[in-house]
Amino acid sequence: MKTPDLQVNRKPAWRRLLHRSTSWLLPARCVICGAGDVDAASLCVGCRADLVANAPSCPRCAEPLVQSEPLCGRCLRHTPPFAGSFAPLRYAWPLDGLVTRFKFHGDLAAGRSLARLFVEHAREECDSIPALLVPVPLHRQRLRQRGYDQALELARDIHAGLDGVRLVPDLLERTRATDAQTRLDAAGRRRNVRAAFAVNARALRRLGDERPALALLDDVMTTGATLAECARVLARAGFTQVRAWAIARAPAHD
Ligand SMILES: [Zn+2]
Ligand SMILES: [Zn+2]
Repeated sequence: MKTPDLQVNRKPAWRRLLHRSTSWLLPARCVICGAGDVDAASLCVGCRADLVANAPSCPRCAEPLVQSEPLCGRCLRHTPPFAGSFAPLRYAWPLDGLVTRFKFHGDLAAGRSLARLFVEHAREECDSIPALLVPVPLHRQRLRQRGYDQALELARDIHAGLDGVRLVPDLLERTRATDAQTRLDAAGRRRNVRAAFAVNARALRRLGDERPALALLDDVMTTGATLAECARVLARAGFTQVRAWAIARAPAHD
């Protein structure tokens, strides 16, 4: 049995059930190439084989590595504020196209397939699943433009697929709109997200004195600047065991 999640709990039971049962309705054709005969993540054999696993990678920040190391060079110089990272796939062809369609073209089936891939890897590769799952929030303005919050959509499907994790979708809020991170270098990314997040006081009260291990979820992790800023905000609220989760890791190039 899964622990009931906090916010979704306020919705009627039939709506929760409906989400649980429909979130795994995936297309019968490959979400990448359109071929028939697909697996549980709606991928054909060929496209599944084209996905690149993010291994070896830095256990702390998930930076792709040439060979297994306990920490990457960047983490040795500057330890990130999260306890570890899990990003099972590399942000490379053909997964990048799937992410783009999900994030910028409203393709929610692509998102469900990404969440399914994450769940498969997490079940196999995560030693322990944190008690709480918190998506990196989208600013209201961006939500209005896009119509949906991509990290929240992924979090819902991952929550539905993983046992023992509780979804707290409103624990973090974005207090100001930020520029898109994609065009910024590493220093610019850090500056851009500074003071952009806060812990929601109401969500924190609902947790009482509980500060269990927590997974912060974003779609793609590049320098980890956004996830690091969120982890710092959560640490100030008493969450000391924060792990960064992302579907895919892009190399940071700095
Ligand atoms: Zn395919
Ligand atoms: Zn690292």
